[in-house]
Amino acid sequence: MVASIGYAAAQAKAPLGPFSFERREPGANDVMIEIKYCGVCHSDLHQVRDEWGGSVFPMVPGHEIVGKIVKVGSAVKDFKVGETAGVGCMVDSCRSCASCAEGLEQYCEKGFTGTYGAKERTGSGITFGGYSNNIVVDRAFVLHVSDKLELSAVAPLLCAGITTYSPLRHWKVSKGQKVGIVGLGGLGHMAVKLAHAFGAKVVLFTTSDGKSEDAKRLGADEVVLSKDPAQMKKHLRSFDFILDTVSAPHDLNAYLALLKREGTMTLLGVPPAAPSLNIANLIFKRAQLAGSLIGGIKETQEMLDFCAEHGITSDVEVIPMNKINEAYERMLKSDVKYRFVIDMSTLHA
Ligand code: NAP
Ligand code: ZN
Ligand code: ZN
Repeated sequence: MVASIGYAAAQAKAPLGPFSFERREPGANDVMIEIKYCGVCHSDLHQVRDEWGGSVFPMVPGHEIVGKIVKVGSAVKDFKVGETAGVGCMVDSCRSCASCAEGLEQYCEKGFTGTYGAKERTGSGITFGGYSNNIVVDRAFVLHVSDKLELSAVAPLLCAGITTYSPLRHWKVSKGQKVGIVGLGGLGHMAVKLAHAFGAKVVLFTTSDGKSEDAKRLGADEVVLSKDPAQMKKHLRSFDFILDTVSAPHDLNAYLALLKREGTMTLLGVPPAAPSLNIANLIFKRAQLAGSLIGGIKETQEMLDFCAEHGITSDVEVIPMNKINEAYERMLKSDVKYRFVIDMSTLHA
């Protein structure tokens, strides 16, 4: 077994603290990574607090992982010791259903294996995530990471990046379209950057008074304070596509009213409570309300390569491991610019 150290929550809502545990010995198809940085996703917080139900404790969160490969199994041909690599939200899937066959492991019909808090498919262990010094992952779920970009700023691409890239690609966001991004947090700021890179006219909706300048620097053409009905009204029936990244319950109808005929609004945020819908907003425009879950491994590699080629990374605030509980509190106040990333060299401090 591999000895690992990290930070864990012992039970729902407990603060995170130091934790020692073991990972499986790398097998023939495994890659072992020494973790350098791990991003802090709002999904970590939802799960540490068991807001979705079914969380497994002790929980070592973290699914925006980058680091150096320190060991590869005998059957691994496409990764080498010393290379930079990443791991996102999944570490396994059934690999035989129709979704897996299409490279859409996130929609695995038997359920993908999450990077933390999930039952391993081989063996009886529970997975532990990236708030830790190392990880052992099957090569099929490991990504190649370019050394061209600042590594701490690459980490959030492994969830926030792919989760926004995938729907923007799926709904073919491109030049000539007007696209709304709701919420400027970890996912939202990547969505602004990527939609801008794909050539769309980008409008950012925010509840925070102070994010307007940043949003424009990140690529928004216009910023709307969503609390102001007059600003919202100006955009009625004008959007081709809206991507909603908000983590808390909020009014979807106000945004559906902004879609054009046959426009689509896609939900990414997973607030703990169900929204209420005014269906007329859909029926009278043949509009669509959709959802999207992270992205498959093939598309995650495509996204990482696209970001390396275009110099796109996350805007990060690097924190030491022992500041994680404060970071969660700040995230709840929408006070994150725009992703916390843990520097794993501080784990021993
Ligand atoms: P985050 O960094 O905390 O950003 C969320 C943003 O939502 C905030 O910055 C804020 O933006 C806005 N917001 C917060 N509370 C709000 C409220 N009460 N009303 C309206 N707006 C509010 O979170 P994140 O890491 O980007 O994650 C966002 C959500 O996506 C979470 O629910 C997470 O679990 C989910 N997620 C889903 C997937 C997927 O595959 N679908 C993947 C990863 C994460 P402003 O200050 O600009 O208003
Ligand atoms: Zn995430
Ligand atoms: Zn499958």
